[in-house]
Amino acid sequence: METVIIKIKNTEMESQKAIQTAGEVIRSGGLVAFPTETVYGLGADALNPQAAHKIYEAKGRPSDNPLIVHISNWEDLGKIAANVPEQAKKLADKFWPGPLTMIFEKTKAVPFETTGGLKTVAVRMPSHPAALALIKAGGGFIAAPSANTSGKPSPTQARHVAEDMQGKIPMILDGGPVGIGIESTIVDVSEGIPTILRPGYITLDMVRETAGEARMDPGLSAGDVNIPPKAPGMKYKHYAPDADLILVEGASRNVQEKINSLAKEASKAGRSVGIIGTDESCCNYQYGIVKSIGTRKDEDTIARHLYGILREFDGQGVDVIYSESFSTPGIGQAIMNRMLKAAGYQVIKA
Ligand code: AMP
Ligand code: MG
Repeated sequence: METVIIKIKNTEMESQKAIQTAGEVIRSGGLVAFPTETVYGLGADALNPQAAHKIYEAKGRPSDNPLIVHISNWEDLGKIAANVPEQAKKLADKFWPGPLTMIFEKTKAVPFETTGGLKTVAVRMPSHPAALALIKAGGGFIAAPSANTSGKPSPTQARHVAEDMQGKIPMILDGGPVGIGIESTIVDVSEGIPTILRPGYITLDMVRETAGEARMDPGLSAGDVNIPPKAPGMKYKHYAPDADLILVEGASRNVQEKINSLAKEASKAGRSVGIIGTDESCCNYQYGIVKSIGTRKDEDTIARHLYGILREFDGQGVDVIYSESFSTPGIGQAIMNRMLKAAGYQVIKA
């Protein structure tokens, strides 16, 4: 299959036409990759079981890992969610359109192919104008996981999508690099206290402020095998580069010393080394390929560059990556959640 990549800019007539064409592909049961404010999504008609099935095929995604359904207006929620609690209305009021996904009891309109067999459905209204336009053009309900091969880092640019999906899907809409770079926060509002199943740009504190109460899914805590995470997708190794990724934690001076000594040893042993530092620390590393992930003064930059940097290291054929860690209260939680999974929980204390 030939994959067409079309550049889109929000205001241009040609972009409108491209989005209409992409909408027709979706309506006829095909797949289109498109930009959202979080990461690129791989879209299909969420109410068409065969179309949803194609997403699993193209990604190599385990069939029990449900898809998020994207809508473009509030009224459409009632068609797919059977019960919308008051707290969900408040959260939608505050954070939609935006990087928040909520889990509801599903209606009959949503096929089990879309929900991985679950009786609940994940729903998000993204804020990216091209995403909203495509959802409208595509019939109103687009199932879209991240547009990467299952297990790989999520795509934050159209060329990342092409790396994974070239020849497997008919169309990629290229809206340039995304703004946030990390997947949406997932909040389960289907039973009692709103529960964060996947951390993201919208933090626990932000959810609490709006919904009154909220908690983290106990299954999210690193590596505790006795409590499985509630979001099926969170149990798989994910976001991982081909290289071995190892996180180093501690005071910044100690971390830099530790990474230097680890990198030296690995280089001596003939391994090709990558280092993930920040604008502040990069000049202190002496071995391997050193990349800055952003500045600690603005964690949003770190989130935005994370997946791209992992993919760049893969492109350079690195064997092992040593990275600083970023476990601060804000978006740092989401960054660390993804990095820990990408590293298979390999953490060294410095
Ligand atoms: P992705 O679309 O690749 O960002 O992954 C979607 C995430 O949402 C996965 O971790 C899924 O397991 C999770 N998810 C989707 N639907 C549900 C649901 N009904 N209940 C719990 N988690 C869900
Ligand atoms: Mg994903």
